[in-house]
Amino acid sequence: MDLSNFYLDVLKDRLYVEKPESATRRAAQTAMYLILDGMTRLVSPILAFTSDEIWRSMKHRRGENAEHVIYNDMPEPVKVSADEEFVAHWDKIHQIRDDVKKALELARADKVIGSSLDAKVSLHCTGDLYHFVKSAEKELPAVLIVSQAEVLEDEAGACKGETLPELSITVSHAEGKKCARCWSYSHTVGSDPEHPDICARCAAVLR
Ligand SMILES: [Zn+2]
Repeated sequence: MDLSNFYLDVLKDRLYVEKPESATRRAAQTAMYLILDGMTRLVSPILAFTSDEIWRSMKHRRGENAEHVIYNDMPEPVKVSADEEFVAHWDKIHQIRDDVKKALELARADKVIGSSLDAKVSLHCTGDLYHFVKSAEKELPAVLIVSQAEVLEDEAGACKGETLPELSITVSHAEGKKCARCWSYSHTVGSDPEHPDICARCAAVLR
């Protein structure tokens, strides 16, 4: 659930939009490959046919049995430094995202937005939460899959958080024009005369 709802959802942007050789795109592909490889090995004793089907359509390293997953070793733990601080950081981001998702659903029902990329979200909070959200502000559009996100130090949001009651959220329609390539809204759409329909980020990828 977490994989498809959160991780893969967030990765789509960099996989679809970035250059084939971009480091973030390559990193995403590597992470997805390691997850698929590990998961397929782990479930193989229980889901023999399904895991074999997945295994046969995957690429493999030299020395692996490409025919049947069960003839390969169980995955080794991947060394990632997920210390307490890292886990706490992402737990908090998940909580914010849960509340933003609810606010986006309400805005969709009110026809303020269609897809989440039509949205600009304003996150209102104070105290420790404000400092935390403010420090993550740049990452928020990607993590929340919205075109714009801003963090305001007040309690004036239209929609009160359920997971984080100290957070309130206002959803409005994103500013600028919609990019024909990445579907995000931006004031930079049309800034490159060679590509009048797309944003500066996409224009840089195509250059
Ligand atoms: Zn774009």
